[in-house]
Amino acid sequence: MTVAVYPGSFDPITKGHTAILKSGLVAFDKIIVAVLNNESKKPLFSVEERMDMIRAATDEMGVEDGKIEVDSFDGLLVNYARSRGARCILRGLRAVADFEYELQMANMNRHLNPEIETVFIMADDAYFYVASTLVKEVARLGGDVSDLVPAAVAPRLLAKFDR
Ligand code: ADP
Repeated sequence: MTVAVYPGSFDPITKGHTAILKSGLVAFDKIIVAVLNNESKKPLFSVEERMDMIRAATDEMGVEDGKIEVDSFDGLLVNYARSRGARCILRGLRAVADFEYELQMANMNRHLNPEIETVFIMADDAYFYVASTLVKEVARLGGDVSDLVPAAVAPRLLAKFDR
């Protein structure tokens, strides 16, 4: 069974993330979506809230049971991946801006554990410019982001911003 870890902040999960998951399931038997527990990034949603929204989003996708698992982690990603029996790290690639950072991370992770490969999937063109940070900013200013996030996420964004 091929297992990949899809790590990220997911603050919150967007349709860009779910598109990567959908494509990832073509290549992997199981994907563990792993929320990075990193308070220094000052997340809008707690780890639990983010995990709940990911579960709701994957339910919406109608994925077969057992193909997606939602978890959280801290510490080194390669250690987490190894502890979960995953040989691959899945990441999504958007515009040029992602490339340098992702290349740096993939090389560092390979240096730390050469047995774990990072695999990239290109962003869906419909969500190429969608980023959690931008979605939060637009929602904060009262813009409509309901097309860009899974159905369960939009009301939670509104609630956070008292709208
Ligand atoms: P991180 O803080 O680790 O970048 P994110 O939640 O922003 O966490 O992103 C997690 C992964 O999902 C990254 O590989 C990122 O490039 C990818 N990703 C984020 N938004 C999109 C999108 N709109 N389309 C494709 N991939 C995306």
